[in-house]
Amino acid sequence: MSDVTIFDKIINREIPAQIVYEDASVLAFRDIQPQAPTHVLVIPKKKVARFSQLADLSPQDVGQFFAGVAKVAAQLGLDKNGYRVVVNNGRDGQQTVEYLHAHILGGRSLTWPPG
Ligand code: AMP
Repeated sequence: MSDVTIFDKIINREIPAQIVYEDASVLAFRDIQPQAPTHVLVIPKKKVARFSQLADLSPQDVGQFFAGVAKVAAQLGLDKNGYRVVVNNGRDGQQTVEYLHAHILGGRSLTWPPG
């Protein structure tokens, strides 16, 4: 059992978040420190701590997670101009919350490469 994170508390409605989408597989909410005009985090309801543990989920759960990310981005109106999906993994990836999450960033032209 991994540690309880702030995202566990959001999913359990123990702390508030600006939720923008929810279905049986994923929850999406606005990042508290947005790095772009639109910055939303998507988490799977079946928890793994990191992207590197994705194989612990079923192929169906993995598919629903990524399909959920695309669906949220579309609902946020980002399809036309595009957006970026980022998953930070571990220390060097600057992951700060040990609950798998995808960042959706959009609403401006993003620079590349990231720092
Ligand atoms: P990462 O560095 O990839 O682990 O990203 C964690 C993200 O969670 C950061 O962008 C934070 O700004 C965001 N964050 C932390 N606490 C909250 C919160 N309570 N509600 C929404 N976003 C949060």
